[in-house]
Amino acid sequence: MHILSQAIEYLKGVGPSRAELLKKELGIFRNGDLLMDFPFRYVDRSKIIPIIEIQADSKSVQLRGKITKVHREGSGRKKRLRALLTDETGSLELIWFRGLQWVDKLLEIGKEYVVFGKLGFFNGTPNIAHPEMESYTSFRSKGNQGLAAVYHSTEKLNARGLDSKARRKIMQQLLDRITERDLPETLPQYLIDNQQLMTRFQALRAIHRPRHAAEALAARKRLKFEELFYIQMALLKKNQERKDQQKGYQFAEIGSIFHRYYNEILPFELTGAQKKVLREIRQDLASGFQMNRLLQGDVGSGKTIVSLLTVLMAVDNGYQSCLMAPTEILAQQHYQSFKEYFDELGLVVDFLSGSVRAKDRREVLARLASGESHLIIGTHALIEDPVIFQNLGLAITDEQHRFGVKQRARLWAKARNHSPHVLVMTATPIPRTLAMTSYGDLDVSVIDELPPGRKPIQTLHKRETQRPQVIAFMHDEIKKGRQIYVVYPLIEESAKLDLENLHDGYEQLLTYFPRPEYQMSIVHGRMKPEDKDIEMGRFADAKTQILVATTVIEVGVNVPNASVMIIENAERFGLSQLHQLRGRVGRGAEQSYCILMSGYKLSHEAKKRIATMCSTNDGFEISQVDLELRGPGNIQGTQQSGSVPLKIADLVKDGMLLSHVRSIAKMIISKDPDLSHAANSILREQLEQRTGQAHNWSKIG
Ligand code: ADP
Ligand code: MG
Repeated sequence: MHILSQAIEYLKGVGPSRAELLKKELGIFRNGDLLMDFPFRYVDRSKIIPIIEIQADSKSVQLRGKITKVHREGSGRKKRLRALLTDETGSLELIWFRGLQWVDKLLEIGKEYVVFGKLGFFNGTPNIAHPEMESYTSFRSKGNQGLAAVYHSTEKLNARGLDSKARRKIMQQLLDRITERDLPETLPQYLIDNQQLMTRFQALRAIHRPRHAAEALAARKRLKFEELFYIQMALLKKNQERKDQQKGYQFAEIGSIFHRYYNEILPFELTGAQKKVLREIRQDLASGFQMNRLLQGDVGSGKTIVSLLTVLMAVDNGYQSCLMAPTEILAQQHYQSFKEYFDELGLVVDFLSGSVRAKDRREVLARLASGESHLIIGTHALIEDPVIFQNLGLAITDEQHRFGVKQRARLWAKARNHSPHVLVMTATPIPRTLAMTSYGDLDVSVIDELPPGRKPIQTLHKRETQRPQVIAFMHDEIKKGRQIYVVYPLIEESAKLDLENLHDGYEQLLTYFPRPEYQMSIVHGRMKPEDKDIEMGRFADAKTQILVATTVIEVGVNVPNASVMIIENAERFGLSQLHQLRGRVGRGAEQSYCILMSGYKLSHEAKKRIATMCSTNDGFEISQVDLELRGPGNIQGTQQSGSVPLKIADLVKDGMLLSHVRSIAKMIISKDPDLSHAANSILREQLEQRTGQAHNWSKIG
């Protein structure tokens, strides 16, 4: 059997019961798993310091001294073993809570040891809990140990003596038995040469036993490169295959309707970013293959107009389109703004949602089926069975990251020969690194420029004691004719309390803004949808000056006259949510404000979130901080694509490497699309092997 396929229990120092534990705790079954469980850091074992030189902020220390005292105390779970380590300059306590029988066997009073561990404090006195110990004689006999690998461990592993030191010993044994033939190369030679990478064999040895820091770094770089490279290759290949296979409707021309709208009706000049995105869309639509494009752009960046122009391309080529929004209100708003232009162009747009009456619904459905209607805008009702198109050529979703698999299938079934072109619009900026790994099989367009003349929203952080100022400010803004959102958090776990807060807040505001001089709307998730719509409508029509709401208003609503967003308990909101909420204001010509109200005690992360909001309006910058704070698995818009299972690369820190690797992968595929060159045969084999155990990179195509 291949050495890497052998079970770990046959390694010296492992055995059946430790093997069982390694399986359970770390999922390590075979030698190969052990080899692929990389250390997460290294410690310099060449330095031994005198006890007197220990600093309060020293992290790991390595000492050399004699054990001068051993003392057992307590019983049962409270059992402890304390020992005193003494060198010429002082003494330090060593302490064990678990695995005492191992330690007992090891410790000998009067013997000289090298002790290594993390410095801790008990009642202000420094100590080391569960240090790594080795007799000085044995330490010296090994010569310079250089960097020592530190592995992830668990309490149970430590209790059974499987700490980093034991792991290093086991690893050494394994490495001694592995030859270059056991670890064949997985990258083509030309990449190893021109990227100056270690070979796989070198890297896997060096990552566990580096001689110095530079070698550890080079080993990590090679392994990160390989990991990111094959993810990119797989995604780019998949994208390429989709394009080859998914024939789509060819929208060959930009026709008269598009031109008329663009030249005569469009009330403003498109931004450079909008033009760039339109060109990308135009290319897709003309290609004869199905478009699958994610359109990212901050709130207010002008995605709607891009989608409108895309619909006009479909119209000019004789196809129908649909636009799906997540809420009734948002769908209605789209309908209103599209209708204005469509009327002017003599085109037909229809609206469909659960609340459309039976008679109207029948008419809408008939117009769709006959092809009279060019565009239908609506909610999820659009994908229900009775909806039949004459020839659906384009499907757009707004503020929804992806169609679910089922929805997709149902929508596709509504098109005739090919799947319709797909455009997914989102205002949640996804950090570039994440977009490259989890959306790598989609084409991504970004609108990274706001229309001219926007005044950046000013964001301020205020505490409860500053509320009078905030109230006075609200009065000023209302006097100027502006409207104000006041948003409260509402989460399921504390729904009752949250709702009470909302109502208390509402009551309190009533005392500052009494009727009939002032009017307020209130909206929350517990209200009937009809009532919600009425209240939202009153605000949108400027019949009320203040809208008190939970986060239901988060998505898409457009009230350009609203210039102040007040977020209560801002510390309880996530960054992307805060950013989305803030995007509700700043849509008109006036200066807009976002006020983040919070308590005094804030967690480190809450402080960072609020500070970030106050310092930037850039959605991509914000999403980057979000990524750093929460890690890749939790970023909105990517949950559905599965977490990105990376072993060694880090999407937060390795962004540069990722871009670099992606561009290399792109170049290889463009030069050799089938990977048929001899030098690339290794790539083909690897891709086949790896996609067998593929991650669930979801797609909308
Ligand atoms: P998004 O959907 O990206 O949040 P919208 O499409 O709703 O943004 O656009 C926000 C506002 O900006 C709308 O009132 C729209 O008419 C306006 N707008 C869009 N593009 C431009 C532009 N190039 N110049 C001026 N105003 C624009
Ligand atoms: Mg929008």
